[in-house]
Amino acid sequence: MNEALLENYARAPLRIISGDGCYLTDDRGRRYLDAIAGIAVCALGHSHPQISDAVASQARRLVHASNLYFHEPAGELARELTRRSGFARAFFCNSGTEANEAAIKLARKLAFRAGELTRTTILACSGAFHGRTLGALAATANESYKVGFGPLAGNFEFTPFNDISALERRIDERVAAFIVEPVQGESGVHPASDAFLPKARELCSARGALLVFDEIQCGMGRLGDLFAFQSFGVRPDVVTMAKALGNGLPIGAMLVTEAAAGGLQPGDHGSTFGGSPVSAAAALAHLRVRDALDLDRHVRAVGAHALEGLQALAREYPELFEAPRGRGLLLGLPVRAPYEATAFAAHLRERLVLVGTAAGNTLRFAPPLIVSRSEIDFLLEVLHAAAAGMLAADAK
Ligand code: PLP
Repeated sequence: MNEALLENYARAPLRIISGDGCYLTDDRGRRYLDAIAGIAVCALGHSHPQISDAVASQARRLVHASNLYFHEPAGELARELTRRSGFARAFFCNSGTEANEAAIKLARKLAFRAGELTRTTILACSGAFHGRTLGALAATANESYKVGFGPLAGNFEFTPFNDISALERRIDERVAAFIVEPVQGESGVHPASDAFLPKARELCSARGALLVFDEIQCGMGRLGDLFAFQSFGVRPDVVTMAKALGNGLPIGAMLVTEAAAGGLQPGDHGSTFGGSPVSAAAALAHLRVRDALDLDRHVRAVGAHALEGLQALAREYPELFEAPRGRGLLLGLPVRAPYEATAFAAHLRERLVLVGTAAGNTLRFAPPLIVSRSEIDFLLEVLHAAAAGMLAADAK
C-alpha cells in the first residue's frame, strides 16, 4: 500500500484515517472496533479530546528544550508517577525498548559502582519480550527476533518463566538484575503465577540482584491497577513503562527506588527527546483523565466479563480454541492448529473488529480500557460468527 516504507512489518492492508474512542476508521469509511488499541497503547481510546488538547496547548508553548534544562511537564510527570507508585525517581525516554535498555545499564552500573565487577548478568525468562535494541533484544527469549543480529550483548541468561526451583538456582552473585514481565504479552499472554514474583522478590533481595518489572505492555491500568506490581502485590526495585503512558504519544519511563537511583549519574545515560514537553503533557493528561473515570474498577469488571465470554467461546468451539488466559484487559485466546490466529484475525477484520496476535498461535485482546460491556459483547458476537464461519468453510 506504500512502496516507500521499509517492509519490516507485516502490515494488514488497511489505511487508517482517524480514530475516536474504541474505533478506527479507514479510507473507505469503514469503522472498526479496535480490540488491540495500537498494541496496548491507547488506553483511554483514540484521539481522546483532553489528551489532544493538552498536546496542542503544550505544543504551542514549548515543543522541545532537551535535557540540558528542567521543564515543567517532565518534572510534574515524574512527581505524579513517583507519588502514585511509591518509587523515588523517574527517567524518561521514548519507547519501551529504551526503558529496558536504561534498566539494564542502571543495574550493571550500580553493581560496578559497588565494586562488584563480576555482577554483570542480566537474567530474563523464557518467553520474555523486552524490545528490539541490541541490549533489550539480548534479554528477549524468542530466537526468531534475534536470528541474524548477533553478536548481541553478552551475559544475558534465561530461566523458565514461573519455575521457582530454577529461579532458586539461577539468581546468584553474578546476577545484576532479574527482569520479568508480570504478564508476558508477546509470548501469548501468560501471567506470572501467584508464587513466582514473590519468590523473585525474596531471592533478589537476599542475593543482591535488582528486580525489574517490565510493565510496558501490562502496566498503566491494563490489569486493573495503575501498576502491574500493585495487581501482584510485589514491589520491584525498577519498573519500566511505555506504550500506554502517553496514550499514543511516544514516551517511556523507568521508575527506580532511591537505593537504585545512584546507578546512573550525570553523563552515564541520556536521551535527546526523553520526556519531551509534549509527550510528558500527554502522559500527565492521561493520568488526570483516568483519575476522573474510576478506571481500575471498570477494567476489573469489564475484563472479567470478557474473560468469561472467551471461556464460553472456547468451550463452544473446542476444535478451534484452547482455554483463554490473561488478567484485566490483557487477554489471549490460543488457536488450535491447523487453524491460524493470523487468518482468524483477518476474518475478524472483515467483520470490522481489530485484534492482535501473539506467539503460540494466540489471538490477543488489549482494547482501550474505556471499552464498554456492550462493545465487549459485540466483540464476542463477532468471534462467535467468525468461528462458526471458519468451521462451516472447513466442512465444505
Ligand atoms: N517490553 C514489552 C513487555 C513489550 O510488550 C514491548 C513491546 O511490545 C517492549 C518491551 C518494547 O517496547 P517498544 O516497542 O515501545 O520499544
